[in-house]
Amino acid sequence: MFLQVLSHEAESAGRDLIAVNPAGTSHTCSRCGHVAKDNRVTQATFACVTCGHAANTDANAAVNILRAGLARRQAAPAA
Ligand SMILES: [Zn+2]
Repeated sequence: MFLQVLSHEAESAGRDLIAVNPAGTSHTCSRCGHVAKDNRVTQATFACVTCGHAANTDANAAVNILRAGLARRQAAPAA
């Protein structure tokens, strides 16, 4: 139901809606792709144990979600 309403709102605004599974996005480094629970230092702080990338956890996850959505869009057959 929520996605139907959101899809309608996006269409009305001339935007695309691409559903993305957010699982793991808060533990995945948006810079190097390393996945580890230890990357999430606190609820709000992300610090990659591999490359040192540091960011707000939500901002880091948002980059991962955007990237996943763009990948799904590219993979979709042309309409
Ligand atoms: Zn990293």
